[in-house]
Amino acid sequence: MNIHEYQAKALLKGYGAPVAEGVAILKADEAEAAAKSLPGPLYVVKSQIHAGGRGKGKFKELGPDAKGGVRLAFSIEEAKAHAKEMLGNTLVTAQTGEAGKQVNRLYIEDGADIARELYCSLLVDRSVGRVAFVVSTEGGMDIEAVAHDTPEKIHTIAIDPEAGVTAADIAAISKALELDGAAAEDAKSLFPLLYKAFNEKDMALLEINPLIVMKNGHLRVLDAKMSFDGNALFRHDDVKALRDETEEDAKEIEASKWDLAYVALDGNIGCMVNGAGLAMATMDIIKLYGKEPANFCDVGGGAGKEKVAAAFKIITADPKVEGILVNIFGGIMRCDVIAEGVVAAVQEVGLKVPLVVRLEGTNVELGKKILNESGLAITAADDLDDAAKKIVAAIEA
Ligand code: GDP
Ligand code: MG
Repeated sequence: MNIHEYQAKALLKGYGAPVAEGVAILKADEAEAAAKSLPGPLYVVKSQIHAGGRGKGKFKELGPDAKGGVRLAFSIEEAKAHAKEMLGNTLVTAQTGEAGKQVNRLYIEDGADIARELYCSLLVDRSVGRVAFVVSTEGGMDIEAVAHDTPEKIHTIAIDPEAGVTAADIAAISKALELDGAAAEDAKSLFPLLYKAFNEKDMALLEINPLIVMKNGHLRVLDAKMSFDGNALFRHDDVKALRDETEEDAKEIEASKWDLAYVALDGNIGCMVNGAGLAMATMDIIKLYGKEPANFCDVGGGAGKEKVAAAFKIITADPKVEGILVNIFGGIMRCDVIAEGVVAAVQEVGLKVPLVVRLEGTNVELGKKILNESGLAITAADDLDDAAKKIVAAIEA
């Protein structure tokens, strides 16, 4: 689960991190009061969407010459004008995809005088089984290019969970970031508190880009991207309350209610599969035959008829879906349960696109019988390859 920048900053502020004062607004006429409550004279008006790259992003409605999704304002009047222009429009960034995201909230922040822009993130480094800091002196808006062109400028410092962030770790991070003076002093509290927040809140990623050294020599968290481990959300009601469902795919929200592992994708073959490995293999084989999957959907091992029906409905509700491939290897999951769920869902919502079903495993004969006797126009397939070929042929027909 992701949250907005302003929420992430408030959370970090609670741990003692240095962040600017700011006010989140939903309406343009709130901009004046928001800016007036800040020290000035520099303000930053920041689009709050669940995607990065906002500074270099472009608003669809405003044309290529308009300013991006993060704007400096040198007066309250200018902050107001930016807010009016930005709110309600669609911001397209390197991370939003072509469709972009509508900007429904802005964060108006006290502007900082920047001396250096650094990069600092925390993540779970699976190669060493530890939480690690990933840092670079080359922070700002082009970190992806730095990672690609000059990977030696990116340093990883993994933290021993027994010891926590030690003085030696802080020294290593500070050296990698070339911190001195007040910034090196600030580092002594900042890095341990980031690590503490990351662990206590079960984050999956905390990315501060940029972490800045200000002209006065101190550090400040200027941007914050935070995502949480969905499997641990049950123990963080405070984090759950920050969820902004308008930022999420409606189909994914419905799927999460049913505890389905569902990810919306851009293609047009809807997939219903059990097991993440089989789901990946199914997506691969669809691509092998020249088409793209519309989704990743793993109904899991122990799904009942209702859950299968819910998954089928979510897939068919996607207007991009031109054909559906059900690929089930019944182990714990029984093929007859899948068949009953599919039939129930089709009877309820109808079937407007070709459906290919490949069943194998427990109760496969019973499953096939249920499908055959349902009177539905279902194409049966014998194996994965056959199934992929048939669904691709069906949507090309
Ligand atoms: P992103 O483009 O989505 O990553 O948004 P950021 O919050 O990182 O802002 C993009 C860029 O705007 C930063 O890298 C800074 O160069 C600039 N920026 C953001 N806040 C300030 C500020 O307070 N003062 C100044 N001078 N520049 C800022
Ligand atoms: Mg940034």
